[in-house]
Amino acid sequence: MATLEILKYPDARLKKKSVAVKKVTPELRQLAENMLETMYAAPGVGLAAVQVGELVRLLVIDTRPTDDDDQVVEEKMTELERKVKYPVVIFNPEIVVKDGATTYEEGCLSVPGFIEEVKRANYIEAQGLDIEGNPQTIKTDGLLAICLQHEMDHLEGKLFIDRISFVKSDRIKSKIKKHGYADNTSEDESQSAL
Ligand code: ZN
Repeated sequence: MATLEILKYPDARLKKKSVAVKKVTPELRQLAENMLETMYAAPGVGLAAVQVGELVRLLVIDTRPTDDDDQVVEEKMTELERKVKYPVVIFNPEIVVKDGATTYEEGCLSVPGFIEEVKRANYIEAQGLDIEGNPQTIKTDGLLAICLQHEMDHLEGKLFIDRISFVKSDRIKSKIKKHGYADNTSEDESQSAL
C-alpha cells in the first residue's frame, strides 16, 4: 500500500467529471486500498478518487467515530450507520432515494482548514459496486449519508465551497489565492474532513 498526494483547490482536475468503471480490476482494488491508507493518514473520513488525481467513480469512506484509543464509539452512530460494513468502498455510486434535510459543518481534504455549514438530504439510499465488484446498496442517515453526498459531488467536479453562499465561497477562494494553506490544521478541523 502507499499514501497518495491529495490534490487541493484550485487544482483544475478537481473540477473534472469522473468516469464510471466498467469492471473492478485488481488495479482499481489497489487504488481503493491506497486511497483508504491516504484517507486514514490525512486524517479524513472520506475520499474520492479524483482527489488523488484518478478520474474514476470511486469513493472510500469511514465515518465511524473513534475515541482517544482509536476504538469505535458505536453509541455515537445512528442505527442505520451501525448496519453498514466499514470501510465503505463504492464504485459507480448513485443515489436512488433521498429524504429530509440536514446541515453539517463540512470540511474537505482538498480545501484543508476551512469549514462551512452545508445543507444535504438527511436520509439516502445509494447503489454501486463494492470492492469485489458485487452490487451493494447502502441505506443510511447520519454522517455517513452526509459524507456520501459530499464525495459524490467530487465525482461531478463539485466542492463543498460550491454549495455555500457566493459571499462565503468567494471569501474562502480569495483567502486561499492570497495566503495558500496553513501548514497544519487542528484536530477539530480534521474531524470534518470529508
Ligand atoms: Zn471533499
